[in-house]
Amino acid sequence: MFPRAIGEPDLHPEPGRPLTPSAAPGRRDDGAKPLPPPLDSPGKPGEQRSRPPFVQHSVPPMTEAVARRALLRFVASRCCYGSRAAGELAIRQLRQLGTYRYRLETFSESRLSEWAFEPFTKPGAARRPGEAPLDPWDVEVGAPPLFQGQTRRCRVPRSALVRDCHRCHGHGRSKCGVCHGAGRTRCVTCKGSRRRLKQQKRCQLCSGTGRKRCNTCSGRGSKTCATCQGEKKLQHFKQLVITWKNNVFEFVSEHHLNFPGELLSKVSGEYIFKDENVVVYPIVDFPEPEISLASQRAIAEHSAAFATSSRILRQRQTIELIPITEVHYQYSGKPYLYYIYGLENKVYALDYPERCCCGCTVV
Ligand SMILES: [Zn+2]
Ligand SMILES: [Zn+2]
Ligand SMILES: [Zn+2]
Repeated sequence: MFPRAIGEPDLHPEPGRPLTPSAAPGRRDDGAKPLPPPLDSPGKPGEQRSRPPFVQHSVPPMTEAVARRALLRFVASRCCYGSRAAGELAIRQLRQLGTYRYRLETFSESRLSEWAFEPFTKPGAARRPGEAPLDPWDVEVGAPPLFQGQTRRCRVPRSALVRDCHRCHGHGRSKCGVCHGAGRTRCVTCKGSRRRLKQQKRCQLCSGTGRKRCNTCSGRGSKTCATCQGEKKLQHFKQLVITWKNNVFEFVSEHHLNFPGELLSKVSGEYIFKDENVVVYPIVDFPEPEISLASQRAIAEHSAAFATSSRILRQRQTIELIPITEVHYQYSGKPYLYYIYGLENKVYALDYPERCCCGCTVV
């Protein structure tokens, strides 16, 4: 067997299996592994630059009316919470707190190429001798919408090769699998005995021959090759699969409240810092050291995870202040507590006094 030129597909794959390139030394596109981006890609940190300032934050003050309205809305959305207590309870204290949320988004692009084939129908589309396929990272695909996940497939230009169909060996037809090429099958009515069992008469359906014309191939013994659709030749080409992904790192600072922290990831806060660029730099001087540490950890983690296997197209880091109000109230002479959180004024009520017991969760 002649050694194949690098970049050509294996043209003798096992029957029924899609064509995959075999491992040859010096190949970059072996199978479906992501292709490392070129070293001169954007996304490598350069000079330190000045970052946007932290904005002085201001959370709108919580009032008793707003706190009660939020609770009434929450109670109305729960089937087993009564609204009477929410209307009658006496609010004793509103304690306004807040917590910081840090987020890093890394928008990355990865590329892999795989061999694919299709029936060859358009003469002239094949690669000319001596032409090398374009490097997958050099294929222009246009700019994707930023920070949105997406997958696009396209052909690598100049990668097409035309070869005889490996399934039918270039005949365009393949042997019928039902009659094994004979064009006739056993008569199902007389099961090939040529006679009806009871009457011992000649079988009408096969005229006493015991065999019938094969329905699958209409008696031809062969059918159009499904792989090349009768075209006899296949065009093999490299298909480029480009995946854009928005990778998110999120950290919420410790708030020391009797409050499930995961609820905070579903609400929004007041932006006090926004920084977007090809790459962003770790925050070092935020008043709350936890947030600076989270930023340093996030950027290190993302660059370790994505810089070698993909190209970082853009990064965005934000700090939000999420308001939390602790509402102390009294009802029927007993003290209770609920929380209002996020700019959406969502409510978390641990021990709301007026509840039936159909077992729904309290969040
Ligand atoms: Zn047949
Ligand atoms: Zn018959
Ligand atoms: Zn074929």
